[in-house]
Amino acid sequence: MPDFLSPELQAFRDRIDQLATGTLVGLRDDASLEPAERAARVRDASKAAGVYGLTQDERTPALTLLVARDTLASHGVGHLRGVFGADPGVLAGVPEPLRSTHLQPLLAGEKRPGFAFTEPSDVERPTWARIEGDELVITGRKSYVTGGADAAFLAALVEIEGQGPAMVIIDTDRPGVTQERRFSSLDGSHHVGFQFEDVRVPRHHALGAPGDGRGRAMAKISAVRRAVAADCAGSSAWIVSLVAADLLRQGRRGRKADSERMRLRYGEMRVAVYAARSVVYRTARLFDAGQDAVNESISAKVFASETANRIADMAIQLVGGEALVVGHPLEAVMRRLRSLRLAEGESDTLYVNVARGHLDIGKGRL
Ligand SMILES: Cc1cc2nc3c(=O)[nH]c(=O)nc-3n(C[C@H](O)[C@H](O)[C@H](O)COP(=O)(O)OP(=O)(O)OC[C@H]3O[C@@H](n4cnc5c(N)ncnc54)[C@H](O)[C@@H]3O)c2cc1C
Repeated sequence: MPDFLSPELQAFRDRIDQLATGTLVGLRDDASLEPAERAARVRDASKAAGVYGLTQDERTPALTLLVARDTLASHGVGHLRGVFGADPGVLAGVPEPLRSTHLQPLLAGEKRPGFAFTEPSDVERPTWARIEGDELVITGRKSYVTGGADAAFLAALVEIEGQGPAMVIIDTDRPGVTQERRFSSLDGSHHVGFQFEDVRVPRHHALGAPGDGRGRAMAKISAVRRAVAADCAGSSAWIVSLVAADLLRQGRRGRKADSERMRLRYGEMRVAVYAARSVVYRTARLFDAGQDAVNESISAKVFASETANRIADMAIQLVGGEALVVGHPLEAVMRRLRSLRLAEGESDTLYVNVARGHLDIGKGRL
C-alpha cells in the first residue's frame, strides 16, 4: 500500500478493506443473486460504510476517492454496481432551475444521466444548435452513450451557433430524440447511439458561460480518467494477488513458485503494478494541491490502463487455460479492462494529446 497516508486516511482505508472483504466479495461471488438485488445490497453496505456518497460530494479530495477506488479494486469489487452514488458530473454547482429539475433527482437516484460526447466517424457536422428565442434547437448524432437506454437526460457536447461549444442537458423524452442503435460491448456494459432532429430545449439547459463547454466536459473527463486509473491500478494489484495464490499452490508438478521462469514474470508484474500505483497517487496529490493536472490525469489513465491490460494478459499466461474459462476471475477482469484502453480516450490519441500539451502549450510534468 502507498506510504505517506495520514492516520485518518489509513483508518479510512482499513474501513474500506473491511467493507470489501466482509461484505462485497461475498455479494460479488453469490451467483444466486439477481443483478438488481446484488446492486441494492451493495448500495446498502456501501452507504452504511460511508462510501456511497463520496462521489456525490464535490468536496471529496481526489486522494480520498483514490484510496476508496484503489482499495476496493484491489479486492476485485470496485466495479460492482451500487458501490458509488451517481456523481454530479457536469451538473456540479448548476443554479436553479436545473438544480431542482436535474441535479437533485440525479443525486437521489431518481433520474439517470448519460454522457454524450463521442460522435460517429461519418458525421458531416458535429452536433449543433441554433438559437430561437428562449430555446436551443439541436441537430446531430452521438454514437456511444453508456447507459443511454435508461437515461432520463443526456449531458451532450453541442456546438451553439455564434457561441461555441457547450454542455447541454437534453431530456431523452423530448420530441426529435431517437435511439438509432442499442448495443453492448465486450465488458458487458450497454450503450445507445442517439439522433437529434430539431430537438428544442430551454436555453438555460446550456451549462456555464457561452463557449465554456469543452472546458466543462474536459474537467469531467479528467475526473473520470483519474477514476479509471485508480480502478486499473487497484485491479492490477488484485490480479497480482490472484497470480501469487496460483504460484504458491501445490500442484501435481510441484509449486510454480519454485520455478525461476515463473518468478521472473511474477517479479515483472509486481514492478509494473508498483509503477502504476505510484503514478495514480502522485496525480491525485497534484490535483488536490490545486495544480493543473490535465496532462497528468491523461498520463495516469493511459499508463494504468495499459499496465492493467498487460498484467491481465500475463496473468492468464501464467495461470494457464483455466484462466480463460468463462466465469474465471481473470477472464472476467480481462474483458472489463480491455474496454478501458478506449473509453475516456483511446491510448494513442491520449499520447498525442500529452505531446501537444507540452510542445504547443507548455503544459505537463515529467
Ligand atoms: C466501454 C465504453 C464506454 C464508453 N462510454 C462513452 C460514453 O458514455 N459517452 C461517450 O461520449 N463516449 C463513450 N465511449 C466512446 C469512447 O469515448 C470512444 O470510443 C473513444 O474516445 C475513442 O473514440 P472512437 O471510438 O471514435 O475511436 P477513434 O477516435 O476513431 O480512434 C480509433 C483509432 O483511430 C486513431 N485515430 C483517431 N483519430 C485519428 C486521426 N485524426 N489520425 C490518425 N489516427 C486517428 C486512434 O488513435 C485509434 O487508434 C465509450 C467507449 C467504450 C469502449
